[in-house]
Amino acid sequence: MIFQDPGFELPELPADVEALRSEARAFLDDELKAGGFEPVCNAWMDGYAPEFSRKLARRGWIAMTWPKQYGGHERSAFENFVVNEELLAAGAPVAAHWAGVRQTGPLFMRYGNDSIKDLFLHRMARAELFFAIGMSEPDAGSDLAQVRTRARRCEGGWVINGRKIWSSGAHRADYMVVFCRTGTDADGDRRAGFSQLIVDLKAPGITIRPIYMMSGAHHFNETIFDDVFVPEDRLIGKPGEGWSQVVSELGYERSGPERFMSTFPVLIGLVRMAAADCDSRRVVALGQLTARLWTLRRMSIALLTLLAKGQSPEVEAALVKDLGTCFERDTVEIVRGLVPTRRADGPASEFDVLLAKCLLAAPAFTLRGGTNEILRNVIARSLGLR
Ligand SMILES: Cc1cc2nc3c(=O)[nH]c(=O)nc-3n(C[C@H](O)[C@H](O)[C@H](O)COP(=O)(O)OP(=O)(O)OC[C@H]3O[C@@H](n4cnc5c(N)ncnc54)[C@H](O)[C@@H]3O)c2cc1C
Repeated sequence: MIFQDPGFELPELPADVEALRSEARAFLDDELKAGGFEPVCNAWMDGYAPEFSRKLARRGWIAMTWPKQYGGHERSAFENFVVNEELLAAGAPVAAHWAGVRQTGPLFMRYGNDSIKDLFLHRMARAELFFAIGMSEPDAGSDLAQVRTRARRCEGGWVINGRKIWSSGAHRADYMVVFCRTGTDADGDRRAGFSQLIVDLKAPGITIRPIYMMSGAHHFNETIFDDVFVPEDRLIGKPGEGWSQVVSELGYERSGPERFMSTFPVLIGLVRMAAADCDSRRVVALGQLTARLWTLRRMSIALLTLLAKGQSPEVEAALVKDLGTCFERDTVEIVRGLVPTRRADGPASEFDVLLAKCLLAAPAFTLRGGTNEILRNVIARSLGLR
C-alpha cells in the first residue's frame, strides 16, 4: 500500500490549476447570487438538478478527463479534482450526473463495445442521459456474490428477472447498469458467472418502487425486473466477467473528494460561528477538523495520481473512504454540539435546516459504496492481519 511506503511522497496539486479554481468559484458565486441553487450537504447524492448538470456540461466541467472522441475534454485528473472540490464545497446540486460520470462512463470506455460507446458516452457528457447503479439486492449488499438477479439468453439478447434494492435515483435515471448472474459459478468460484447489462429503465417489465429516507426524501428505490428484454449489444464486456469489471469501478467509487466533503457546508458554518464568537471550543474543533480534512485531501490526491496512471488502488481507496466517511460523521456530531440550542418554537435559520438535513443523511455515509467494516476487512487483509 502506498501509504506504508517510507519513500512515498504525497503529491501536491500543480499550481496551474488554481486559475481554474478561481473560475469555478466565480461561476458558483454568480449562480448562488442568481438563486441558481441552494447549498446542500451531501450534494452529490441529494442535490438533483439536471439543468444545473447541463450548465456544467456546457462549460466542459463534467466528463472533464474523458477523451474528446467520447465527448470529454481531455483535461487532467487534477483539473477535474479542483472543479469537483469547488462544487462539493459550495453544496452545488451535482447528483444527476455524479455517479454516471464517475464510474459508469469509465466502465463503458474500458469494457463497452462500439455501440455502447457511441450510444451513451456523448449524451452522458452533455448531461442528457443519467444512469443508476444496480448492484445491491435484499440479501446481497456487502457480499455481492450472493446476487440472484439472473439474465438468460434469448433470441437477440437477454431476459432479466430479479430485484435490486437501494438503487439511488433509479426513479429519475434513464438506464441502469445491472450486475446479474448469466452463468453458474465455475469450480466453486463464487465470483464466476456474473455479467453487467445496460437496462433501459422505461422497458416493459420494470417496476420501480420508492424507499423513503429517514428525512422523508425519495432518494432510492427497489427495482424489480420481470422478464425484461435487453438487446445483445447492451452487454458490457464479456459474459461471465462481470466480477472483475465491478471491482474495477471501486477505485473510482471510493477515493474521490465526495467521500470526505459531503459535510463541507456544515464545516463552513463552524468557520462562520468561530469568526462571530471566538469561543475556544469552536476554535479547537475547527483546528482538529481542518487538520483531518487536509490529510484526507492529500491522500485522495495521491490516489488520483495512481488512477491516472491506470492502476487500481483498491486498498488505498478503502482507506480514504473509511477515514473520509468517519470524518464526515464526526463533523456533523461535533458541530451539532457547538451550535447554540434553538428554542423549539423559535424560527430555524438556514444553517439550522442545513445541519438538520445533514444529520438525517449522516447514517448513510459509512454504508453506501461499501460499509466501513468491509473496507476495514480489505485494509486488514492487505496488512496480512486476516
Ligand atoms: C445512501 C445509499 C445509497 C446507495 N445507493 C446504491 C445504489 O445506487 N446502487 C446499489 O446497488 N446499492 C446502493 N446502496 C447499497 C449499498 O451499497 C449497501 O447498503 C452496502 O453495500 C451494504 O450492504 P447491505 O445494506 O446489504 O448491508 P449488509 O451487507 O447486510 O451488512 C449489514 C451489516 O453487517 C456488516 N457486515 C456484513 N458483512 C460483514 C463482514 N464480512 N465483516 C464485517 N462486517 C460485515 C456490514 O458492515 C453492515 O454493518 C446504497 C446505500 C446507501 C446507504
